[in-house]
Amino acid sequence: MSYDVIVIGGGMGGLTAAALLARRGQRIVLLEQGERTGGYVTSFQRDGFTFDATGSFVGGCEEGGEFYLLLEQTGALPYLRFLGIETARNIYPDFRLDLHLHGGFEEYLSAVKKLFPHEQKGFEGYFALLKRIGGEIRRFEQMTWWQMLLFPFFFRHLIRHERASVGAVMDRYFRDARIKQVLATLPAHLPPGRLSLLFTATLISKVLSQGVSYPEGGMGAIPQALEKAFVEAGGEVRLRTAAERIVVEDGGVRGVIIRGGTFLAARTVVAAINIRQALVTLLPEEYGRRFARLVNSLEYSLSSFLVYLGVKMKLDRAALPYFTYVSPKDTEVEYGSLIRGEMPDDPGMIMTIPTFLDSSLAPAGHHIVRLMTAAPYGFLNNWGGSDQSRYRVIKEEMAQRLIRLAEERVIPGLARHCVVMEAATPCTLARYTMNEAGATYGLAPTPGQIGRGRPANKTAVPGLYLAGHYTRPAHGIVGAALSGRFAAAMISRAHRR
Ligand SMILES: Cc1cc2nc3c(=O)[nH]c(=O)nc-3n(C[C@H](O)[C@H](O)[C@H](O)COP(=O)(O)OP(=O)(O)OC[C@H]3O[C@@H](n4cnc5c(N)ncnc54)[C@H](O)[C@@H]3O)c2cc1C
Repeated sequence: MSYDVIVIGGGMGGLTAAALLARRGQRIVLLEQGERTGGYVTSFQRDGFTFDATGSFVGGCEEGGEFYLLLEQTGALPYLRFLGIETARNIYPDFRLDLHLHGGFEEYLSAVKKLFPHEQKGFEGYFALLKRIGGEIRRFEQMTWWQMLLFPFFFRHLIRHERASVGAVMDRYFRDARIKQVLATLPAHLPPGRLSLLFTATLISKVLSQGVSYPEGGMGAIPQALEKAFVEAGGEVRLRTAAERIVVEDGGVRGVIIRGGTFLAARTVVAAINIRQALVTLLPEEYGRRFARLVNSLEYSLSSFLVYLGVKMKLDRAALPYFTYVSPKDTEVEYGSLIRGEMPDDPGMIMTIPTFLDSSLAPAGHHIVRLMTAAPYGFLNNWGGSDQSRYRVIKEEMAQRLIRLAEERVIPGLARHCVVMEAATPCTLARYTMNEAGATYGLAPTPGQIGRGRPANKTAVPGLYLAGHYTRPAHGIVGAALSGRFAAAMISRAHRR
């Protein structure tokens, strides 16, 4: 069989690249080792409940937003309806912050200023910097050739802060250490001292200007819509089909060997999978050796532990938001335990209640409550390795710990009302997606792994491109989808020449 492009991996990166290329009239096959497309972004059913396996929101879905435009370009937009997430709550050890996510920068600023009135000047300075960086990022994404030539003039802040952490910059603006915890509460699994300022500025600017949403029917609706658009454009999806080798001959890609030994020919391959697989395991040894140093030098994101609860109880939408973050006392201490491979004594936790947004996800009178916390890399030892009975005990203990935390800090009596309970460990995440050690976000968004510090979408092997959350521009649903768009644009240009 012969194709113009083979896309390996049916997550957000692979699906986006495949759908865009198919719409440009190319002959594309998408290989997905699992039972369905979506990778991390998927939903599953249990006893009448529809649970989201991982993610809880997506940015830029409102008309004209970044993800909206991307879905429009892929042809997936007509199959999706998004529900806006209006509020979120962050609970810190001695205070809490209620956020109006559609209020923009000014509303966020006034909420944090109210909490720390003695730090007004610091907030003004810090947010002005975030806005300037956000503006440069927007310009960077639509860069013209003359802006590229005069890069240092147009992108002063991007250059200056490329290697800065949020923690170090905040030290310049604030005296109250608690502010660090508040302003660095982001989906990154990193404390302020390790978190990139550029990543933070981009995320905060985008969330506050474009909002965050939830797809009707659950997160799995997003890949379903992308797959549908891809197939309608003439693309072919092969499920339960793992790529086992990327064939390189005469200095360029020639195709892919799939499990069972079948050869599929193509001069272009997009690997939207774990970067170690893409650049080391699947490539011929002489190429794999060349990339091994890069792959080993990367810092992978921490993994996650999730608890999925179906509950029969009344929950008050007026008192509880869809999204609640419970902060640990000290995020640096929490992170210290995690990177040592231990579960922290005082973990942070995200609770979401998707039935507040879409009641059809649970039977009448029931809700879904989902709990999530960061979990360490060293899961093979920590989670019992191949000893299945020990693994099950540790998993149950961890789930009970998170439920207790949820009861103490957010919903008293929660455990009594559970009718369904499941949990996912880093092993589960790695098994379903082959992500490096179940990495939640691919690469950790540390200062060295943002922008130019991230592996490029075009590799040194002619015809081999990367997409997904291990490559540019960033992690998350939108980041991985954008990487697919970057790869598709590069391939279209190369094929036109
Ligand atoms: C717990 C958790 C919560 C998250 N929450 C959010 C959130 O709220 N909002 C947000 O924006 N992002 C969130 N993210 C991050 C986001 O889901 C990911 O960054 C993004 O979906 C990654 O997409 P991807 O295409 O890079 O990779 P993946 O989703 O990992 O997809 C890779 C695909 O490739 C397949 N594959 C692997 N190897 C092979 C092979 N050899 N052959 C064929 N197929 C193969 C896998 O089966 C998988 O389907 C969360 C992630 C996790 C884990």
